[in-house]
Amino acid sequence: MDQITLKKKEERRILNGHQWVFSNELSEVPQHIHPGELVKLYSHSKHFIGIGFYHPKSLISFRLLSREEIPINDDFFKTRIQQALNFRKKIYPESLTNAFRLVHAESDHLPGLIIDKFNDILSVQTFSAGMECWLETLKEILVELFHPRMIVLRNESQLRALEGLELYKKILFGESESAKTIIECYDIKYEIDVLEGQKTGFFLDQRENRRLIERYAKNANVLDVFSNDGGFSLHASKAGAKMISAIDSSEKTLERYHNNFLLNKLSNVTSIKDDAFEALKKLTGVDQKFDLIILDPPSLTKSKKNIESAIRAYKSLNKLCIKLLTKDGFLASASCSHHVTEDIFLNTIMRAALETKTELRLLEKGFQAPDHPVLLTMPETRYLKFAIFQRC
Ligand code: SAH
Repeated sequence: MDQITLKKKEERRILNGHQWVFSNELSEVPQHIHPGELVKLYSHSKHFIGIGFYHPKSLISFRLLSREEIPINDDFFKTRIQQALNFRKKIYPESLTNAFRLVHAESDHLPGLIIDKFNDILSVQTFSAGMECWLETLKEILVELFHPRMIVLRNESQLRALEGLELYKKILFGESESAKTIIECYDIKYEIDVLEGQKTGFFLDQRENRRLIERYAKNANVLDVFSNDGGFSLHASKAGAKMISAIDSSEKTLERYHNNFLLNKLSNVTSIKDDAFEALKKLTGVDQKFDLIILDPPSLTKSKKNIESAIRAYKSLNKLCIKLLTKDGFLASASCSHHVTEDIFLNTIMRAALETKTELRLLEKGFQAPDHPVLLTMPETRYLKFAIFQRC
């Protein structure tokens, strides 16, 4: 196995729990080692630090797999996945749900690997060249542990280009006739399509936050902006909302949204298929008001470079929603951009309130569900912010 060496004093971050080494931290960036190959990492003073994946071209040169000198083989991956599963069984046992995030990448010490379990289908994403090399092994482990009907690879993220990986989606295992399946989370059923749904097929990260809005939903006139397959709307409806309106730009998503209302025998729902900015502007024009508005936009920035324009977009979306709130109404606002920290997120909403000459008070905060754990030593693993405010 090849060895790579850090520059002087560059070991501190990785010894303090971070799992990546950037190319400028290495004393040299060897070009003969292939993307994704296993290497040993040493400090400048020749102390062993760990084993991980190497990439000669990516900004992230090294992704840590183990801090011990152990063999990295099929058993290694099986043990890590089994550990990840044991934890999920504890927090989301089968009696409660048939869907959870099984592996949340670095947070489960499996760099660049995401696996979601949706009933009888598993959905996998790889973000590192290293993990891509182990796909066959991962498939065998998942088949042995879960006997799934299908394993789908949703490798469409632009982030893969940073590792020189192609963008594609394909069926890794099983029959191709239908990737539809019914999942159940907190007594709500969703028929999702693991090949067609966004990202891995469905957003499990908002599961706990969807429950938080229930206490504000009784008899409320609700607006769910960026509704996707209906996670927040269905919880609001179950909690006794009077009327629910959804906004989403994707027709297929809205088909699934309405289908999920039928599946749960819930009604009093309408939807607007439009760009959210446009739809919100139109609604402010007709002076319609809502008692509860959920605003959960897609990530508006994938890089630090675009953060200013993303903040402007968050602010204008929040301003539009605040204008549509009844007096004493509630705003549940979220941001899933990692680069928008919680401070920036709250500050942006504060400025949105000031600029609309309203006062908001913060009632509750949430973040990503516990099957998407956060490593305090790796801020990159935390991305979802969620807060509920009241207009007063
Ligand atoms: N609230 C959802 C998740 C939202 S994901 C949940 O609880 O699961 C973001 C959604 O925004 C997707 O469904 C996508 O179709 C939609 N979307 C993306 N860009 C949009 C735009 N400009 N206008 C309206 N909807 C958009």
